[in-house]
Amino acid sequence: MTVAHYFSSNYAEAREKFQTACQQRGLKVDSRRNPVAKGAAGEDLFMDIAQIGPTGAHKVLFLMSGTHGVEGYCGSGAQIGMLEEGYFTDLPDDTAIVLVHAMNPYGFSHDRRVNEDNVDLNRNFLDFTKPDRPDGGYARIHPYILPEDWDGPARRDANKQLAMFIEQNGMKAFQAAVSGGQYQHQDGVFFGGHKPTWSNETFRQVVRDYANEAETVGFIDFHTGLGPYGYGELISLGSLDQKGLAADWFGDDVTDPDAGTSSSAPVVGTVGHGVAETLPNAAIAFIALEYGTRDLNQVLTALRGDNWLYHKGELGSDLGTRIKADIRDAFYPDEEAWKAKVWARACDVTDRALAGLARAG
Ligand SMILES: [Zn+2]
Repeated sequence: MTVAHYFSSNYAEAREKFQTACQQRGLKVDSRRNPVAKGAAGEDLFMDIAQIGPTGAHKVLFLMSGTHGVEGYCGSGAQIGMLEEGYFTDLPDDTAIVLVHAMNPYGFSHDRRVNEDNVDLNRNFLDFTKPDRPDGGYARIHPYILPEDWDGPARRDANKQLAMFIEQNGMKAFQAAVSGGQYQHQDGVFFGGHKPTWSNETFRQVVRDYANEAETVGFIDFHTGLGPYGYGELISLGSLDQKGLAADWFGDDVTDPDAGTSSSAPVVGTVGHGVAETLPNAAIAFIALEYGTRDLNQVLTALRGDNWLYHKGELGSDLGTRIKADIRDAFYPDEEAWKAKVWARACDVTDRALAGLARAG
């Protein structure tokens, strides 16, 4: 059977499908409106939450989509599929599932990875009360990441400079400098922000509201853009304790950016750090389920193009239209084979999380 119909072609459609699927399961949807941004069609934007199982459960599993906006097509499809296929109907005692749809609804609606503040939500959970603002070497390449033009001499020169950087330092160092997270260049890529964003504060509140009594909490945060096409890498993020529990639940194929075993560079200010702060007494297993799409160079170029467009370009122009098509394709290959892989892996990983939760004391 084809699973393509679980997936949507825009944020509004995804939201409607999610709400309908919840309704059919008799689930109430808790919608938290973003008061500071609107969607691409002027629509209101929401983080939508549905809980399956009892309130106050000691074991809770969160499934989150759209932390990185445009990556939300993937996780939304998995969430809707699980609702429609009757997942979580026979939960063990004292266990609840919390589906969080569209963590960053602005990015989802506008086909952007960032939020309304040009912030990467998965770099925004830094402790902003401390003076430390990591840079990871981004400052050196920022002028070339954001050239004055996209199809003229400035871009050609910037590309030469970036190629030289890669030649001298290697692709891994380049990826780390670009994507590790930076806090100085608001008009740059992978910018972590200067303060907690709406999505950050809202999600922390959601975690408090739905996992207040929880002793063991799992998180599966759906992402796209890194690794082999359609493969869902289990990236373990957070503290050593979190990594230990994630390895116990998800097995040997869990990877760790800090150990160099992941397709992701080491990153700072992740959602995983945020939930550890929010639930200091709970045992936490946090996984970023990262699905490959296109090759890394294509993905980074698409991101760079999108960032250029919103700072130097014109959204409605031919070039703007091309750039928007590229970023969408880089994070959401609209192909049945890809969706089938996403779905199968999502089910497998969710089953492992449920088994891990069941083993918890
Ligand atoms: Zn992501």
